[in-house]
Amino acid sequence: MRDCFAVSEELLIFAANLPATETDTPATDGLTNGQIINFQNNIIMYSDPKECLYCTNNETLHNLMIEFATLRVSRAFLFKEQTYRGRCLVAYNGHVNDLNELSDEERNDFMADVAQVTRAMQKAFNPEKINYGAYSDKLSHLHFHLAPKYVDGPDYGGTFQMNPGKVYLTDAEYQEMIEKIKAVL
Ligand SMILES: [Zn+2]
Repeated sequence: MRDCFAVSEELLIFAANLPATETDTPATDGLTNGQIINFQNNIIMYSDPKECLYCTNNETLHNLMIEFATLRVSRAFLFKEQTYRGRCLVAYNGHVNDLNELSDEERNDFMADVAQVTRAMQKAFNPEKINYGAYSDKLSHLHFHLAPKYVDGPDYGGTFQMNPGKVYLTDAEYQEMIEKIKAVL
């Protein structure tokens, strides 16, 4: 099945039930996988919002993170894997692929949200530096990973790992961490 979400001279969005694959194949009538955006002649593959963990708030989302705040245009989460103490994530409200697709106002609001959270993380946990990661090659929903780094901590001076799968806390410890951030958010 294919639904048409929006049509304009410059922007065509199509969605299908199957997940997106990595390809630069142009949109055709035979489209069967994911969404395709034709934006000023650039073809971009999009993942399906119906399978997006942020849009559906599914179990995968709850296994990975805990939502703790609603911001201007996004939501803030504590990442459950806590190799990088205090690690959080900010996800944009809409199923948008990239920062460069937002209007100036939307982008300013989103970055204000991101900075609000990292400022609170800095106050709450006092890391040496906070690393920002916006990757999502296969999940086209704008979000920033916010990974605090400590001089004697893991991967200081290098790139943080997406999910080391090593450090998990108790529910009470997660809650304590969230309270610390929220107190200075
Ligand atoms: Zn989404």
